[in-house]
Amino acid sequence: MRLAINQKSRKRIAKKYGGSFNTGNIQPVWDPANPNGKPTAANGFLTATVTFTNLPNSNSAFGVKTARLKRDGDVVATNKYAVFFDKFGANHPPCSTCAGCPNWFWYWREGDVCGIPKNGKCKYDSTLGAGVAGTTEPWGDGVIRLGPDASRTYSFPRSFQCTYDSVTYLDLSGIGRPGWGIDSIVSALRHEQEHLDIYATFKIRFGIIPRNPSDLDGDGLPLASEETYRGLKTDPGNADTYNLKSYHSDYSIYGDQELRARFMEQNDASPYKAYPERDWAHPGTNHRINYEPDEL
Ligand SMILES: [Zn+2]
Repeated sequence: MRLAINQKSRKRIAKKYGGSFNTGNIQPVWDPANPNGKPTAANGFLTATVTFTNLPNSNSAFGVKTARLKRDGDVVATNKYAVFFDKFGANHPPCSTCAGCPNWFWYWREGDVCGIPKNGKCKYDSTLGAGVAGTTEPWGDGVIRLGPDASRTYSFPRSFQCTYDSVTYLDLSGIGRPGWGIDSIVSALRHEQEHLDIYATFKIRFGIIPRNPSDLDGDGLPLASEETYRGLKTDPGNADTYNLKSYHSDYSIYGDQELRARFMEQNDASPYKAYPERDWAHPGTNHRINYEPDEL
């Protein structure tokens, strides 16, 4: 913090200034040249350098703060500043569900910044590969796992083609929610939730052999629902009506279910929601260099 001063005030300010920063749980450590916040005067400015060594226990401790300069106990000047955390660092307080998770996962979950569940039903998984935002195993532990790429950018081809029942082209691009940072997390969570919901609704595990009698193509959607579920029409005899396997071979088994998951990412009634005003990651929504993809 630097403040302009006049000569008359200089001595009294230098003597009395105590360096009281309103920083929530964050502890300031003053530069050796500025013990206890005592500023150094040079060229008409008072300067005091402080380093914040520990990260707080709460996301709400980040954000806009006010530095106050006192003289003889009276506030003579204030200045706004903002405190951010290193998005990809991992120096947050201990994590009970996934030790070593990045700061974005820990603080965005703690502060309910983008809907990451706190009940153990969502964990960070460093082993997920590039381009894999999240995974879940509905018939297993039902936990949504978010990977390193979940918080970066989200985009996926949204034009799908098929030849089933005269529908030759399905374009979801107009309702897309490509995004990044906290918006990408919301999309990933809603996507995996759809896989969980489909299994909870129909109780059919996709890809199993022998086939469930009500799901002959094995995509986890029963015959009676293939042409109507979520307002999308897919072939009851083809697990991947829209040829999503052209993007990833796994989808040959359950492309019709994957199509619903991608469709539901866009659902305005999604239980998952982003709160940009709570995002204090750097880079992130509120940083002055913002969240341009180039920053990553
Ligand atoms: Zn999926």
